[in-house]
Order: sequence, then structure tokens, then C-alpha cells
Amino acid sequence: MDKDSGSGEAAGPHLRRRSLLGAAAGIAAAGGVGVAGGPARAEAAARPEPSFAPGRSVVFRNATVVTGDPRLGVRYESDVLVIGGTVRAIGRNLSVPGDAAVIDGRGAIVMPGMIDTHRHMWQTVIRGLGAEWTIANYFGWIYERWASFWRPEDLYASSLLSMAESINAGVTTTVDWSQDLRSYDYAEAAAEALFDSGARARLAYGYSFIPPQDWVLKGDVARLQRERFSSNDQLVTLQLAWDGTGTERAFPERPAWEFARAHHLPVTMHSGVRNWMADEQILNLRDNGFLLPTNTYVHCGTMSESNYQLIADSGGTVSIAAESELNAGQGYPPTGRIRAHGIPVSLSSDTQVWWSADMFAAMRATLNADRGIDHYRAHGQGKTVVNNNLRTQDVLHFATQGGADTLGESARLGSITPGKFADLVMVRADTPSMVPLINPVHQLVFHAQRGEVDTVMVHGRVLKHDGRLLGGLFPRARRLAEASMNHLRDRIGEQQWSQSQDPPPFEMG
Ligand SMILES: [Zn+2]
Repeated sequence: MDKDSGSGEAAGPHLRRRSLLGAAAGIAAAGGVGVAGGPARAEAAARPEPSFAPGRSVVFRNATVVTGDPRLGVRYESDVLVIGGTVRAIGRNLSVPGDAAVIDGRGAIVMPGMIDTHRHMWQTVIRGLGAEWTIANYFGWIYERWASFWRPEDLYASSLLSMAESINAGVTTTVDWSQDLRSYDYAEAAAEALFDSGARARLAYGYSFIPPQDWVLKGDVARLQRERFSSNDQLVTLQLAWDGTGTERAFPERPAWEFARAHHLPVTMHSGVRNWMADEQILNLRDNGFLLPTNTYVHCGTMSESNYQLIADSGGTVSIAAESELNAGQGYPPTGRIRAHGIPVSLSSDTQVWWSADMFAAMRATLNADRGIDHYRAHGQGKTVVNNNLRTQDVLHFATQGGADTLGESARLGSITPGKFADLVMVRADTPSMVPLINPVHQLVFHAQRGEVDTVMVHGRVLKHDGRLLGGLFPRARRLAEASMNHLRDRIGEQQWSQSQDPPPFEMG
């Protein structure tokens, strides 16, 4: 901080919405492009991308700052200064380096980057195909019929598109629950997509088609860790993903769990999905010493209270995907029960074969489910819920700090706190959906949407600004994903492609 605020701001370049538009109009006029009065798209195409050179300091000026840090709360008309990838200071009229890029925060909310702790990115390429599905349809089509049609380049294209979707939506860290890594080529392709995106991600290495002990030790996981994940100080990190363990008391999964522990790789599992990875399996993990604090249990809708307590006592975490659970039928989103046991909660979007990867939607779905069941139960007893239990502040916490806690990154991610990594999102609060701004937390949860995400920063680097993804990520991801979708459609065949979109009535045995 080498200058006071006044001179620092005057000297620094102004990367503001109005000044950018003005500059763009000037460039367009000089180039002879008829922007004035022309279509908005032409104007957008003519606008140059602002300069956020790597390593350059950035200050958000005069924003409403929802820090997510209980000690700091919400700060009004405040600045956030980012230097060298971390949040340096929050306050009014901050002194900043003379060459700091200035982002005008007036009429906007700066919040922590959101964290999605469970997403099957390889499926994004067939986005929307299964909107009418239940989980039975999902297993029938993708698991039993189609999964082998994906090539490594399809995983790459789908994951790159999914990461572009994350950045665009203000999701700065995403766990790619990648369960179709059938060979090293697939694993490498999935990892490369995450690295190439420029955002923060966790590759959850999985292969759901055979038991973990049959693939984890074959050498590919160790090789990928050695070649691409030798450090935890990089944007993309590694963990493992498998569906827990069976009920056999002989515990054949032991070698896979021992590998995970020896290689310091956390494990994420779909759990408590009706009878699958439910009580008996949790007890089996406990009895064999693998109810680890680094375990993340996804869904967890169907477990007994005593098993929630076991997870709580072990230090494990739960990822709730409310849109998924309410539509596909893994079990009712257990937010209330999980919280009653004091288990850290994060949110996730699961798969874009059905749903959006919109964490605003995930926060709303979680609140809707939790409040809805409370009202329903109360009415069944002739009672009325007077005060809602789960609050907007809680789900905003789940979507940010809860995700960081799940990843074992509590100290480095999840809130806007000096010293933490600068993973930040600026949400417009001057739109028809957001004015007048009365309570930024309430309005982030119930009124904001992806269209309001103006600026996204990961580790101090601006990846989206003024509503636009920077650096050419999206056009490339789109081109690759559309080619990949066409390949998969050919392999699937037109009959299944159309039949799967309108599944007939189906009774599960
Ligand atoms: Zn899942």
C-alpha cells in the first residue's frame, strides 16, 4: 500500500463499466465499425477485454461486501484489496498500489466465491437430456448403456464446458466427481480440462463401474498424483471418489482405503441413497477404521440418527444436492438432521444431465426443502411453524465456507478474510431483480441469479468481468463440447436419444 486512497485511485487505471464502454465506442469508431445504433451484440464483440495481467493487484471500490467471515460481517461502501492472489485488506478508502486495477463496486455485492462439492462434469456435454429422469432412468441409460461411449476428448470437452459454467456462475471451486476414468488417458484428459480452465477445482478420481480395490491400485492414480499433483499449492488438487464400501465383514475394499490414507487423498462417496451406502456400510467403515475426518458423504438422505452421529464424531462432512435429491429420489435432503448433529454441510449440483450448476438455485432448493418439510410435518400435527429454522445466512455459509470446510481448506478459502485466497465474486445489485438493496444476504439467496454475476476472481486473477468470461475459454469449450455431443449422439443412436428424453412410465422392482 504505497499511496493513499485518493492519489492511488487517481493514478491507477480505471476498469469501470462506463469507462470501458466509452473506450470501446472510441475504438469501434476509429475502426469504422458502426456501433452507434447497431445491435448490442456488435457492440459486445467490439469491446476489448480489459487488462488484468497476472500478478497485478486489484481493488474493488465502494462495494457492499458480504464477507462470510463472522467477525467481519457485511461491510457497506467498502473496498477489497487483492495483492498476489490473496485478500490484503477490507475497508473504506483503502490505500492501494499505484498500478492496481480498479473495479467499481458501486451498485454491487462482493461475496466469497461459491464452492460446488460434487459435480459429474463428464456428463455436462449431454446437458438437459435427462430432465424427466429418476435415478432409475439414470442408471438404466448412462450406467448400463452409454458410459463406454465417452472418449478421453469427450471428458475433456465436457469438463472444460463445466468449468466455464462454474466461472460464469460465480463458482470458483468445483469438485469434479469424475467416475468414468477408465484408463490413464481419461484421467489425464479430465485433469487437463480443470487446469486449462484457470479456476480452482478438485479432481475426484473415480471409476464407478468396478469396486475401488480393483482399480485404485493399478498404478494410474499414483502416476497422475506423481505427474500432476505433487503439490497442494496449485489451483487443481486431487482426491478419490468411490461409493464407499459394501457390507461384507471381510472388508475387501481395505487396500483401496489404505492407498487413500497412504497417499493423503480424501475420499468422497455417494452415501445414504436408500439402501446403498447406508447404515450397514457406515458401520463397516467404522469397524475397519476408515470413518475418516477427510471423508465426504454425498446425499446422506437415508441414514439412522446414530449413523449421522458417527459421521459427526468422525469429523466427516456432508454434501447436499437438494435439486438432485428432490427430483431423482436418493432420499429427502437431510439438512435439518445433518445440522442437528453438527456435521459441516456443503452444497452441490450433481449432474447437468438434469439440473443447472447454479449455486443460487442450490441455496434456494436447500431452503425450500428444509422449510417445506417443517411446514408439512407441522400441519400434519395441526400445528403452525412460526419461525423458520434454516436461514439465508446458513445456506450462504453452506455454499461458501461449508464447501471450503468440506475440502479441508477452511483456512485458505470460503470467506473474504485478509490472508485468505482471493476467490471473489461481484454480483450486480443494480438490476431489476435486485433493487432496492435492503438485505444483501437475503437478496443473494432469493433474488440473485447467474445473470447478475459481473466479475469472478480466482486466486487474484480476474476470469470474468463486466458480465463476460475472459480469455477465450467459452468459445473453445463450446466448440469442443458441441463436437463431442454429436459424437455421443451418433453412438447412442437416434432411437435411444429421443426415447431417453421422454421416458415411459416405469416401475422399479
Ligand atoms: Zn453424484
